[in-house]
This record gives sequence, C-alpha cells and structure tokens, in this order.
Amino acid sequence: MKDPRRQINIWAKELGFDSVHFAKAERLEAEAVNLRKWLNRGYHAGMSYMENHFEKRVDPTKLVPGAKSVIVLTYNYFNPIKQEDPQAPKISMYALGKDYHHIIRKKLNELNNKIEETYEEETGRGFVDSAPVLERDWAERAGAGWKGKNTLLIHPKRGSYFFLAVLITGLEIKPDQPMRDYCGSCTRCIDACPTDAISKEGYLLDAGKCISYLTIEHREELPEEFHGQMENYMFGCDICQEVCPWNRFSKEHTEPEFLPKEKLLKMTKEDWEQLDKNTFDELFKKSAVKRTKFEGLRRNIDFLQKAESKKNNE
Ligand code: SF4
Ligand code: SF4
Repeated sequence: MKDPRRQINIWAKELGFDSVHFAKAERLEAEAVNLRKWLNRGYHAGMSYMENHFEKRVDPTKLVPGAKSVIVLTYNYFNPIKQEDPQAPKISMYALGKDYHHIIRKKLNELNNKIEETYEEETGRGFVDSAPVLERDWAERAGAGWKGKNTLLIHPKRGSYFFLAVLITGLEIKPDQPMRDYCGSCTRCIDACPTDAISKEGYLLDAGKCISYLTIEHREELPEEFHGQMENYMFGCDICQEVCPWNRFSKEHTEPEFLPKEKLLKMTKEDWEQLDKNTFDELFKKSAVKRTKFEGLRRNIDFLQKAESKKNNE
C-alpha cells in the first residue's frame, strides 16, 4: 500500500493546493474551552449558528463517525491587483474573484475520491467553511501555520492570504507537529485595527466590532458608532493582514477562477454609489459577495456615504 502522506501530498499539489498537513482526529479539548469562553463573552455577535452543534464542532468523530485523521489543505488567493479608483469602496481581496467555496469543494471531492479508490476508505468528507468545523484550530494542530494575534492562520513563508479546507477521513495517517508562534512582540494588527476588534493582548476577536463581520454577516442596520471607522470597506476587511509582516512573503495565486472581473476593478466611487440590482447581479454572479445580497451591499455603501457627508458637514 502506498504511503498515504506522500501520495495525498502529490494529489493535493496536482489539484492546486499549496500545502497539506495532517492531524489526528480527536476531540479539540483546549480549543473547546476557548470556544466556550468566546461564545460566553458574546463575541460571536449575531452568528448564533456558532452556538449550535458544539460537540460536532469540537469532535470530528461526532461529525464523521469512524474518523481517524484530519487533512488540512491551504489554497493561495493572494492577488496584488487592486480596484482602480482609490476612492471606491473596497472589497476584501479574497472576494474579488469567483466564490472559492465551489472551486475548492470540487477539488476536495476529487481528492477524497482518489483516497477512497486507492485506500478503499469510504468515510471521508470535505469541508470548506460549510459545516461545524474549526478549520483554523485544525490547521494549527496540523502544523499548517500558527494562529496569529489577528486570529488568522499564518505561515512563515506563505503569510495568511490563503483559504483553508479540511478533509476528515477514516484513513490512519501519521500526524504532523504544530508549529511555534512567530508573532513575538509584534502588535501591528492590534494597533492597526480601526474598530479595536482584536483584544489588547491579541488572539481574541470580538466579531461584533470586526468590519468583516459587520459588512458580511450582520443582518440589521450598521451601528452609527462605526461611522468613520470602516476604512472605506463595503465587503470584508484586509487591514490586519496588510500590516502583518509575514505577508511580505505572499506570492500571487495561479488560479484563473480567482481573477477579478475587469468591470468590477474599473467601478468608480460614483458607480458604486449608484449601484442597482442589475449591476450587482452582473458583477457578482458566482461571487462570495452575493452573501450580503444586493440589499446588504447597498446598505454598506449607503453607510459609508452617510458617514462621509456627516464628516463633511462637521
Ligand atoms: S478584519 Fe479589519 S476590523 Fe476585523 S480584526 Fe482585522 S483589521 Fe480589525
Ligand atoms: S501583525 Fe504581528 S502580531 Fe499581528 S498576526 Fe502578524 S505577526 Fe502577529
């Protein structure tokens, strides 16, 4: 029988993944305590779904009966191409191209099929931000990077501009060792966060204050206390990644599906302010931005506009 580590690595790289790491499928004991504390603090804000399926979330054997190993894969999305008008409301880098969920899920399924065929192992299930799976905790356990003070996974050579995918399998695979934390005394992400969403000591995020949560997940009106603090973001936020010194090593992705539409890059501030449903549908067909729906993105643009006119009238 072929060594699964080596073989899975080869297949994953052929599918476009940048790295593959392995962890033993077992209950995430320490991580479960941290998740409980985070939930008790109410830092998940309006994401009440985070309270559901707690045991499945922290124990892969409850989610996938017979699970023995967790395969963690990363997929680069770093893209140096920017929206042309520097005044245009901004979209987070990861969402400029086609929705990564479909693209990566397809690749995960292909990988799982190869594992099933070769090792006669049929318990595998792939996850990409779709089920109660703590992807970042698994990535840390498997040594794919360390969880930085900005709470994102960071790799010393690849930075943090990558998607995480997880494949839980019944195949027994030798696990990797976790990596040490290289944040050291750096506090750049904490200092740069415009809404103080990261705790003073780092490693803890109050989602209710995070621009990413507010512009994507928050369902009601945006609280006025954030006027003037959104740094012109209308979908997501990249600030705590932009300032992270480890991202100076990021290399441009090679995935054609992640390339942004020409029209989207050319939209000016005025174009966005006049955005209507038809243009939204055209620009964001098959895009992760559809998560906010037209009304959500319109709300975010209106919020930025309102804050700007308030500032101008002061
Ligand atoms: S994504 Fe933006 S708002 Fe959220 S923690 Fe990072 S810098 Fe702060
Ligand atoms: S900016 Fe500094 S403290 Fe924040 S995640 Fe990066 S290395 Fe760690």
